[in-house]
Amino acid sequence: MTTLPISFEFSAPKTEAAASGLRRAHDRLKRFEHEFVSVTYGAGGSTRDGTKKTVLALKENDVEVAPHLSFGGDNSEVIQELLLTYKNKGIRRIVALRGDRQSGIGSPKLIHASELIRFIRETTGDWFHIEVAAYPEIHPESKSVSSEIAFFKEKVDAGANGAITQYFYSAEAYFRFLEETAKAQITIPIVPGIMPITNLTGLQRFSQICGADLPRWLVKRLEGFDDDEALKDFGAEVVTRLCEQLIQGGAPALHFYTLNQSKPSARILDNLGF
Ligand code: FAD
Repeated sequence: MTTLPISFEFSAPKTEAAASGLRRAHDRLKRFEHEFVSVTYGAGGSTRDGTKKTVLALKENDVEVAPHLSFGGDNSEVIQELLLTYKNKGIRRIVALRGDRQSGIGSPKLIHASELIRFIRETTGDWFHIEVAAYPEIHPESKSVSSEIAFFKEKVDAGANGAITQYFYSAEAYFRFLEETAKAQITIPIVPGIMPITNLTGLQRFSQICGADLPRWLVKRLEGFDDDEALKDFGAEVVTRLCEQLIQGGAPALHFYTLNQSKPSARILDNLGF
C-alpha cells in the first residue's frame, strides 16, 4: 500500500450544476485519505464568489480546504476581507498565485505572487500555510532557468511554506528542478502536480496556454486512438508510471488536478495502491 500524502485540486464552479458536480467528484474521491483539497480562483475575481462559496461549504463539512488566491484587479481591501473571512472560518492553507491572464475578467493587472505572499504575512502573520506555484519545465514568461529559480526563491523568502508544480510528463524535468532549487538553498517541499490524461485536444490546448511540454511520443500515441476508453486506459498507464517514478525518486506528496472529475485520478491512485 502506498501512503504518500495526496491532495486534490478542483476548479471553482460558476453554476449550481457545476457546484454539485464538484461535490459529487469529491464524495467519490473521499475514499482516498487526503491532506487537503484546493479550489482555483479566477484572476481578477471572476470566480471570487464561486471560490469563496465552495471553500466555505467544504470547510463546513470538515474538509481541509485551501483556497487559491491572486490579486488580479482587486484592491487590497477586497483581498484582506477575503483573507479574514477564511481565517475566521478556521482555514489554515492558501495557494498564493499571480493568476492567469486567460482566467480573469477583461485584462486584470497581474501582481506577482511574491507581493501577495508579503501581503498575506503582513495582514495575517503566520496563520496561513502558504503554497505557491513552481514550474519544473520553466514558466512560459521566464527568461531563463536562473531567473525562474531566483523569482521562485523570492516567493520562498517572502514566506511560502510549500510549492505545487505545474503538471509535466517528464520526471527528469522535476528532478532537475529539485536539484536546481536545492543549490539555491530552497528547502520547502515541492509537490508534483499530476494531470491525468483523458482527452488529447483539451490537453493540447491547456498545455499550450500554460507551457507544459507534451512529448512527441506521447502525442503520437494519443493521436492513434479512435476509442476514447482505450485512450483513457493508455493515459492512466502513462500517468501511473510517471507517479511511480516520482514516488521512487522521493517526491514529498502528489497533488492531482482533478478538473472536477473523480474517475481519472481515482484510477491512477488505485493503480498505485493508495
Ligand atoms: P509568479 O510567481 O508571479 O511568476 C510569474 C512569472 O513572472 C514567472 O515567469 C516568474 O519567473 C516571473 N516573476 C516572478 N516574480 C517576478 C518579479 N518580481 N519581477 C519580474 N518577473 C517576476 N491561475 C489562476 O488564474 N487561478 C488559479 O487558481 C491557479 N492555480 C494554479 C495552481 C498551481 C499549482 C499552478 C502551478 C498554477 C496555477 N495557476 C492558476 C496558474 C498561474 O496563475 C499561472 O501559471 C501564472 O502565469 C503564474 O502564476 P505564479 O503564481 O507562478 O506567478
